[in-house]
Amino acid sequence: TNKIFRSINPFTQAIIAEHEVLTNGELARKLELSQSAFKYWRTTTFQERADKMKNLASIFRTNKEELGLLITNEMGKILPEAIAEVEKSAGNCDYYAENAQKMLKDKYYDTTFKSISVYDPMGAVFAIMPWNYPFWQVLRYAAPAIMAGNVTLLKHAPNVVGCAKAIENMFLEAGFPEGVFQQINIDIPQVESVIASDIVSGITLTGSEMAGSSVAALAGKYIKKSVMELGGSDAFIVLDDADLEKAATVATKSRMLNAGQACICAKRFIVTEKVADEFVALFANKIKALQQGNPLQSGIQMGPLARIDLAEKLSCQLKNSLQQGARMIVGGERDHCNFQPTLIDFVDANNIAFKEEIFGPLATIIRAKDENDAIVIANDHRYGLASAIWTEDRERAYALARKIEAGNVFVNSLVRSDSRIPFGGIKKSGYGRELSDIGIKEFMNMKSVIIE
Ligand code: NDP
Repeated sequence: TNKIFRSINPFTQAIIAEHEVLTNGELARKLELSQSAFKYWRTTTFQERADKMKNLASIFRTNKEELGLLITNEMGKILPEAIAEVEKSAGNCDYYAENAQKMLKDKYYDTTFKSISVYDPMGAVFAIMPWNYPFWQVLRYAAPAIMAGNVTLLKHAPNVVGCAKAIENMFLEAGFPEGVFQQINIDIPQVESVIASDIVSGITLTGSEMAGSSVAALAGKYIKKSVMELGGSDAFIVLDDADLEKAATVATKSRMLNAGQACICAKRFIVTEKVADEFVALFANKIKALQQGNPLQSGIQMGPLARIDLAEKLSCQLKNSLQQGARMIVGGERDHCNFQPTLIDFVDANNIAFKEEIFGPLATIIRAKDENDAIVIANDHRYGLASAIWTEDRERAYALARKIEAGNVFVNSLVRSDSRIPFGGIKKSGYGRELSDIGIKEFMNMKSVIIE
């Protein structure tokens, strides 16, 4: 008998669905299907692929309410955020439908003979994805991969298998041949056999550093290219001359969006001493005003965390950080998966809330002496995903941005991913880039053709 994955609604605790894990035999047939789909798919034109990708975008938009409900029920984000996620995913399908051909055009080199580089698809991209953005994480990598002529196999997180199945069904409905996009329900011990398979030419993972480390090791063992989008502990730097009111508004959004469960949530609020008291007061009021509750109810701004073990881990991190000297400002209570939006102050670089990734609605204030100190504190971390700087001096902001060790720096705005802009991290946040023209080239054979 097959092993079962259970999908549990984190707000009601109801079991939504049970999904069977593939047997090794079933998995082998999926890999064969992937192989035969690739043989055909690589021969299709950009126009054929784009037509289907546009269909997919419109299917997403037509069904966004129902799909939003599925996301909310499986992982607990508020319905408006779930619907926005479906729309953003549709936007990424359109973006690559419209731009893939242009991005992958031949390039001629300046030589006395003729020399051209061309982009060939390579096979199946094996994706291991998390539950926090169950649609966006998938379409972010799948739309470019498939537009480029690759096929894909998705191992989604066990608590969002309903979303994975819905996405596969919509690929078929949009007209993609069977096998171009397949979701595979597999257990961790089966991951190696997929990575080892000849049809798999690249591996992309979004998730924790631990998952990334073991999957990247396997990718290395089988000499497969990989892209790793792992944890983050993004700095949100507020300098003396910042617009504090606006900074506090965006800080609240950047920390509390998706109940704080995003790799690019602001996690360390590094504030210069001169403005710290004022900023903390503004931030605390905005956090206190957040409405938490049933994610399906209108007016609610934050739902539960996605799983009980995640909520328990966050409680533990909070308790330890207070024991290590942090001071509670607002929040701190937890009822099952519902974790109250919380703010703590006087966190230092030795505190657990500074060192570990805080994946939930817990904001930490770190007080810096001045601008230089703020940059040192921001860079004093194992992660380097994104960061934000708040200052009214835009020229100085550029100079400071160049000193930040991260894949993205946003000045005076919310850190967010955008189809048109490269996205990814450095240090233990991973490597490789997604989105834009850079993302689509990660799993291609850039082949040089030389003609004498
Ligand atoms: P995981 O990283 O464990 O899960 C993400 C995906 O990776 C899932 O599909 C998971 O599958 C898979 N995975 C985990 N371990 C392995 C492995 N050894 N080999 C292959 N695949 C693996 O995250 P969790 O859900 O456990 O969350 C724990 C923490 O990870 C969070 O608190 C947060 O700090 C971080 N995280 C960061 C994310 C980000 O966007 N940067 C997203 C999600 C989590 P399975 O569940 O079957 O193990």
